[in-house]
Amino acid sequence: MAIFTPVRRWQPAFRPFRKLSAGDRLLAFNERLIKGPLFGCRMCGNCLLQETAYICHMECPKGIRNGPCGGVNNGYCYVDPTRRCVWDLIYKRSQKMHREHKLLEILPPVDWDRAGTETWGEVIKKVRETGLRRIILPSARKGKSAWSILDEEVFKPIRQPAWWKGDSEYHPPVNPEPQSPLEKELRSGRFVITTEVMPPLSASIDKLKEKISLVKPYVTAINFTDGSSAVPRMASVACSSVAASLGADPVMQISARDNTRNSLQSLALGANAMGIHNILCLSGDSPRVGLKPTGNLNIIDVDSVHMLWILRRMRDEGIYLDGREIKHRPGLFLGAAAAPFAQEPTLQVIRDRKKINAGAQFMQTNLVFDPDMLDPWLEQLWKEGLLDKVFIIVGISPLKSLKLAKHLNEKIPGITIPDTIMQRLADAGDKVEEEGVKITVEAIRKMRGKQGISGVHIMPLGWEASVPYIIKESL
Ligand code: SF4
Repeated sequence: MAIFTPVRRWQPAFRPFRKLSAGDRLLAFNERLIKGPLFGCRMCGNCLLQETAYICHMECPKGIRNGPCGGVNNGYCYVDPTRRCVWDLIYKRSQKMHREHKLLEILPPVDWDRAGTETWGEVIKKVRETGLRRIILPSARKGKSAWSILDEEVFKPIRQPAWWKGDSEYHPPVNPEPQSPLEKELRSGRFVITTEVMPPLSASIDKLKEKISLVKPYVTAINFTDGSSAVPRMASVACSSVAASLGADPVMQISARDNTRNSLQSLALGANAMGIHNILCLSGDSPRVGLKPTGNLNIIDVDSVHMLWILRRMRDEGIYLDGREIKHRPGLFLGAAAAPFAQEPTLQVIRDRKKINAGAQFMQTNLVFDPDMLDPWLEQLWKEGLLDKVFIIVGISPLKSLKLAKHLNEKIPGITIPDTIMQRLADAGDKVEEEGVKITVEAIRKMRGKQGISGVHIMPLGWEASVPYIIKESL
């Protein structure tokens, strides 16, 4: 365990993916020798220690660079519950150091050409460019502190390369026109209901079409998950395209787990060409929770904040991540996942603000069974003026059995089912399905009147047949 990064090492430091000069090798060797024991440095070559309270974020099993993910469980990591969540530690230490503002900056994905190489050489180069005199002599700093000169003119240009230009600002969509029926309905102020249809396990779309046709008349949009719980099923883009062909408004989910920066950009353009405008960006469940043999457990290429930033710039600036121009920009309505209970509200809302600044226009929460539990989080969003920048859609599920409720409550991070509800299900005996539906209807009615909530997202977990009845009863 490193001195300043109090978690067990996740993986060894990277080695360079190319041949380095003798001088660069020596610098890299020294950097590894010093930063390894001190910070648990993984030599990514894209150092963010100043932004992450001197804790190396690469000790996060997903390598998230704009953490934490929604899998934080009472400060522990859901990928490996024996270790603390690195990002939870970063947030808490930043709070203690009064450096929460640092957490808002949208940090770039790793430039893999730099992995395994040194960052000190670049710092020295930037210091030379800035001029030591300008950093050391107060008279030369024109009232600025040495640290702010260092941060603005040395460290920031290194961590925010020209191809990324990340900041901590809110970037409203350039095009005022709604990009989809879902966006239009949300903007109208009417309470919106969306649902999801489980992607098929086979190549047949007959059942998929049936289920889409069943729920379509009752909802504004239909979501399709992207390998939820890290289990492969038919691709979200395929299901979304079928839904669009049936006249429904699909929400295509994209998980960072299964996508790279390249596949993300190609997928967004292709999907848009097939009539898909709503994209929900998620980091995605770790392969650790999926089926055997277990998939890649090392870091992901982009996180959900990266995906929002890249897609927003494709839509609003008409550019790819590498800077090439996009002649016909994609018309996208961008969404993100929200985990209202993952951390205490003041910390959680830092993460939410970051997603909104990156480009999230709607946020879909994980499952909520008692709407009042949302109040502290909603109040913090309201206090920070974020509720007029994002539409909140609350996730809810009809609990079909006590077994399902227990599984969700005990195994899925970020989901809490109150004892009263567990007791109602237990007391319902063989009428548990009816009771589960009743609980969902009551919760939806309650959310209709709650300030800050723009709609609900019914996740039937394969029980799509319950959706029409639930919606009719909740009116
Ligand atoms: S994977 Fe998620 S929970 Fe685990 S350390 Fe990373 S951000 Fe934290």
